[in-house]
Amino acid sequence: MTATPVGLEPRLQKLIRQDVQSMHAYAIQDSAGMVKLDAMENPHRLPADLQAKLGRRLGALALNRYPDGRVNDLRKALADYAQMPDGFDIMLGNGSDELISLLAMACDVEGGSILAPLPGFVMYAMSAQLQGLRFVGVPLSPDFELDEAAMLAAIAEHQPSIIYLAYPNNPTANLWDDAVIEKIIDAAPGLVVMDEAYQPFSSKSYIGRIAREPARHRHVLLMRTLSKFGMAGVRIGYMLGNRALIAEIDKLRPPYNISVLNYECALFALEHREAFAAQAADIVAQRGVIVQAVGCMPGVRVWPSDANMVLVRVPDAARTFEGMKARRVLVKNVSKMHPLLANCLRLTVGTADDNRHMLAALEQSL
Ligand SMILES: *Cc1c(COP(=O)(O)O)cnc(C)c1O
Repeated sequence: MTATPVGLEPRLQKLIRQDVQSMHAYAIQDSAGMVKLDAMENPHRLPADLQAKLGRRLGALALNRYPDGRVNDLRKALADYAQMPDGFDIMLGNGSDELISLLAMACDVEGGSILAPLPGFVMYAMSAQLQGLRFVGVPLSPDFELDEAAMLAAIAEHQPSIIYLAYPNNPTANLWDDAVIEKIIDAAPGLVVMDEAYQPFSSKSYIGRIAREPARHRHVLLMRTLSKFGMAGVRIGYMLGNRALIAEIDKLRPPYNISVLNYECALFALEHREAFAAQAADIVAQRGVIVQAVGCMPGVRVWPSDANMVLVRVPDAARTFEGMKARRVLVKNVSKMHPLLANCLRLTVGTADDNRHMLAALEQSL
């Protein structure tokens, strides 16, 4: 339920930042009774036996106590999962959204700025705005590749404190050229965050390059999340990087940001990683089915995906979005997010059944 918008009384208006009062709250679409393919969630629940096992384990936890050292067991398990290189450390966030906010807070120095390619993940710009830092958005090419010349020129001009590169990118779902990324990393005067939220579905990760050349990547942070892995409801993000750097950012973390329930769920997920790997494999196979099917629809353009979403361009995104919604399928109309996304819809990969519904609704709504 959203709060009813009522005018803030003048006395209180004076207390709240003007830019905050002008903002719109993050809108979550109503999805009751719909095939929900708008938020890159994993469509699979835990198998029934694992649900029962997890339920017993969560029920036995000491919820009367603050989170304790067990959170370090999770840090270690995630570091092993990500094959964290020597000399690196790992910190956890309440989703990677929290880590993005903490980074902006940590880098809030006079004249600081945050740079990212556009279209991209909205939290990068939002974290800058909320912290009072400048945000520099650099358009991708029309095919959603990094514009090497524009990126290097913007880096030289703005000297950003943080550059975000989502690998693969949201909402375009593609990986970028490693050679261009390396040039950006070499040119960066500040931090570079490789955001691998979609790692479970991606053919590549940056961790290998970081491990092979640690000195060159001293200022690079690798960010991931369990959200797209299959636990969006649990809220666990993590970030790896040079130990001294992580130590500074970790000072800003609220001490109990990872709840007892969250870390126990995440540990459970890693203990049963084969179950999640099987889900990811199914999603990757289903992604192939979607790309193939939409590629055959007349007038529809589709881009390659390394994530659990597929970006398509249709003749009229508003009409198609509404038509799909009327057929009880909810996707994301991203066409107003950026001029490069004109008439684009973002389709989250669902179960085989969801996808059949979605493809039929899409075809009927073109
Ligand atoms: C979904 C997403 C995230 C993060 O999400 P959390 O649920 O807060 O962990 C981060 N980066 C990108 C690019 C995403 O798409």
